[in-house]
Amino acid sequence: MSNSNPKPAVAGAMPAETVSAPSNFVREIVREDLRTNKFQGRVWTRFPPEPNGYLHIGHAKAIWLDFGLADEFGGGTNLRFDDTNPEKEETEYVESIQEDVRWLGFNWENLYYASDYFQQLYDWAVELIRKGKAYVDDLSAEEVRRYRGTLTEPGKESPYRNRSIEENLDLFTRMKAGEFPDGARTLRAKIDMASPNLNMRDPVMYRIVHAEHHRTGDKWCIYPTYDYAHGQSDSIEKITHSICTLEFEDHRPLYNWYVKELGIFPSQQIEFDRLNLTYTLLSKRKLLQLVQEKRVSGWDDPRMPTISGIRRRGYTPEAVRAFCANIGVTKTNGTIDLAMLEHFVREDLNRRAPRVMAVLKPLKVVIDNYPEGRTEEMGAVNNPEDESAGMRKVPFSRVLYIEQDDFREDPPKGYFRLSPGKEVRLRYAYFITAKSVINNDKGEVVEVHCTYDPATRGGNAPDGRKVKSTIHWVSAAHAINAEARLYDNLFSNPDPNDVPEGKDFTANLNPNSLEVVGQAKLEPSLAKAKAGDRYQFERLGYFSVDPDSEPGKLVFNRTVALKDTWAKKQSALGSQKKQSALGTQQSAKAKP
Ligand code: ATP
Ligand code: MG
Repeated sequence: MSNSNPKPAVAGAMPAETVSAPSNFVREIVREDLRTNKFQGRVWTRFPPEPNGYLHIGHAKAIWLDFGLADEFGGGTNLRFDDTNPEKEETEYVESIQEDVRWLGFNWENLYYASDYFQQLYDWAVELIRKGKAYVDDLSAEEVRRYRGTLTEPGKESPYRNRSIEENLDLFTRMKAGEFPDGARTLRAKIDMASPNLNMRDPVMYRIVHAEHHRTGDKWCIYPTYDYAHGQSDSIEKITHSICTLEFEDHRPLYNWYVKELGIFPSQQIEFDRLNLTYTLLSKRKLLQLVQEKRVSGWDDPRMPTISGIRRRGYTPEAVRAFCANIGVTKTNGTIDLAMLEHFVREDLNRRAPRVMAVLKPLKVVIDNYPEGRTEEMGAVNNPEDESAGMRKVPFSRVLYIEQDDFREDPPKGYFRLSPGKEVRLRYAYFITAKSVINNDKGEVVEVHCTYDPATRGGNAPDGRKVKSTIHWVSAAHAINAEARLYDNLFSNPDPNDVPEGKDFTANLNPNSLEVVGQAKLEPSLAKAKAGDRYQFERLGYFSVDPDSEPGKLVFNRTVALKDTWAKKQSALGSQKKQSALGTQQSAKAKP
């Protein structure tokens, strides 16, 4: 296994968003440390995922912060797998995590594993025993918990706490040698059972787990706890700023205690707010449950908030980074509106996704006065946001498909699309007027007969008459068939964990989170689309080609619909409130 990152994932990997991003308190700490020369001008961070699942959008925030800060100040970042829980960790996760970090556009300087340090961690544990700062405890996990006390009551010392150094060394050696069953003993730091901080009440350093480790095999049957492994791993790697989420704030005294007692390089732990998103769960354990219970098709189901899920759905790394740069980094946990993430996806795709015409739920339209057998090539703009994207030709003929929704036999008031006797514009083509319909035996409209006005080619009437709407279409004879997968939120409750007594979060799953449309009709320019390509289907949203596509059978994921609810909410709030909702100094551009 190589320790270096083979290739930059993105040319000139420094993400532009970092430079223009609003500042945050972590960056200010780093700036101050540089000013006081605290770490001799070094800035070295690490991203420490546990390989027990796929990364999610919450990790993207941590990655953006860890890598972005180091990049900004000329330092580097290690990718370190925190693999101290052999029962839950797998090589599959190790691989997906690397792929996801690269996809986000970041490159690590070194690839490390906490398991690389098992020997060093063990030696340091022996050192602490020798100093009288650690002891082997025979209490069971349950007893350890009971002896710990509560926030209001001090803990109770274990009867094994005052073993001799010799006995502790002997027992610890035998723990390592595999003499005892799982859970029979632990190694604990000897700190203070009366500390107001529960983490300081003789925390467990090692536990016995006879399990195959994904890298060290059966070499070890004692494994360090997160708290004991993490800070020491930081120190070994000479990490300057060890940035983690707020739930570790109360662990910082312990982090520093180990550093002090061992006299090792003092990395500095800094805590920031964990990302929470409405309608979304960001917990690998719960996401794993969705996968295992087959509530989703896998870790990369496009409804999942995993990096692999949003990638498959069509989100771009640029959009994710812009989102991270704009949500702010603070000291209080909050919840970000999922619509804000979608807003950044839309903004990015708006700039670069080519526009095409696609009809998801087709209704046949016959233009009775258009010559049979004739085809015209209509010029269409590929991207109004990007002149260099140029134009393409879209074939037009006598029989077309339009959306079922774009026709009403009995139009309600205010309905301006096609209906009997009404004239509309076909995008890039002609004005048409609906004349008659054919119904099936259930009374549903299956065909609309229209006439067109040849003088309106290109979309304008020489006599200046106006139409109230423009609809998209696809020529039936030229259409390609495709499947479209339309997604809604995976959960119907903004807080998926908000469930009645006795239920778990799966009670909040949205039964309509996936709608498969099997008979979509696409303009023929899409014939060459390949997995991962992204488009705007005019009026319908942004779509990306799913890897399930096969030759002759394209499958599209709707990445995001066109309507921007977040931008709307923001403009309704007004600019003052907009800033505080963002938690940043800089407001995101709301689209009109
Ligand atoms: P999960 O509960 O999903 O397993 P975790 O914190 O246990 O999350 P790790 O693999 O330990 O996952 O995370 C690696 C890094 O990512 C940690 O520094 C962690 O603080 C950070 N991280 C995880 N979830 C989030 C989140 N929602 N927002 C910001 N950072 C996160
Ligand atoms: Mg975890």
